[in-house]
Amino acid sequence: MGKSYKIGIIKGDGIGPEIIDEAIKVLDAVSVGQNCNLKYTEMLLGGAAIDETGVPLPDETIQGVNKCDAVLFGAIGGPKWDKLERHLRPESGLLGLRKAMGTYANLRPASVYDELVNASSLKPRVVEGVDLMVVRELTGGIYFGQPRELLHDKAYNTMIYTREEVVRIARVAFDIAMKRQKRICSVDKANVLEVSQFWREIVEEIGKEYPEVELTHMYVDNAAMQLIRDPRQFDVMLTSNLFGDILSDAASMLSGSIGLLPSASMGDGVGLFEPIHGSAPDIAGQGIANPIATIASASMMLRYGLGELKAADKIDAAIKRVLKEGYRTGDISDYGAKEIVTCTEMGDIIAEYAAK
Ligand code: NAD
Repeated sequence: MGKSYKIGIIKGDGIGPEIIDEAIKVLDAVSVGQNCNLKYTEMLLGGAAIDETGVPLPDETIQGVNKCDAVLFGAIGGPKWDKLERHLRPESGLLGLRKAMGTYANLRPASVYDELVNASSLKPRVVEGVDLMVVRELTGGIYFGQPRELLHDKAYNTMIYTREEVVRIARVAFDIAMKRQKRICSVDKANVLEVSQFWREIVEEIGKEYPEVELTHMYVDNAAMQLIRDPRQFDVMLTSNLFGDILSDAASMLSGSIGLLPSASMGDGVGLFEPIHGSAPDIAGQGIANPIATIASASMMLRYGLGELKAADKIDAAIKRVLKEGYRTGDISDYGAKEIVTCTEMGDIIAEYAAK
């Protein structure tokens, strides 16, 4: 008898429903072979929730996610809801959900598939073989620090971290490094900021609990440069909210297409797994969206949310195989396409390969 998991499904808006349907197809295909049973509960968020209930984050969704083992999310937003007041817009629903779930660690992998090495804006020889993970602290630091104020002739924010906040994000990064190449580069600005000096000392302390992991430190300005100069040097990059926001977006461009990259937001409870792209209203309903970022998010859900490593490996291998065989959705059709496929066809092929 395999394990049974409750999976929250939030399709959202735009291409959200299309890409989530393909991810579910792949999850179903892989879970049979791995003898785990996934039970899905659909919940509303964003524009779809506004249309149905009048608010972007209904109470049922907040209660619902906490009863799940993990949540898979598509994307929200679109021009239809852009004119609403800020607190009633789809985006505030997503921010509220992340807050309610207490997800303090944002995991953003950036890997370059061999077949798409030309899709990157950097030279193939620089990005070939890149496989890194940015672990960004998500609920502390300067975005939330008090005091903060905007006055007529001055404005200020506060970059603050507590010991507990640094300890828990460092542990997430070290645990992930143990499942990867066992190398962490902690990125800070300890030569200028006391808060970074504090961060560095605590990361060093936690590092002693993980003697197998090689820990290095880098100043954020150098890290930005090194990410473009030689991204292969990184395995796990651990960093604070502000620095991670910038570095993870820069890292995402190493791979070339926004339709390929997954993410995970994790805390002490239920994790939220989602593609890094938005709801792409310009292509919604046309059946041409690339579902790979969402399918890869489902793989992250299995790996980091549920600990089903074999099932996750199967999905990752299936994604690599379809790309190797030349199947491409429109967004990546310029790079080694042998056959252009729709969103559904891409899901079908990945599901078939993942099931084997
Ligand atoms: P976007 O990521 O939705 O789209 C940017 C471009 O990338 C578009 O040309 C789109 O067609 C393309 N694209 C994105 N995902 C793709 C995929 N899977 N396959 C093929 N092409 C893809 O960003 P945007 O246009 O700035 O925002 C559109 C809406 O999405 C806005 O309402 C925004 O607020 C929202 N948004 C939501 C999230 C989220 O739900 N996490 C994140 C970012 C933006």
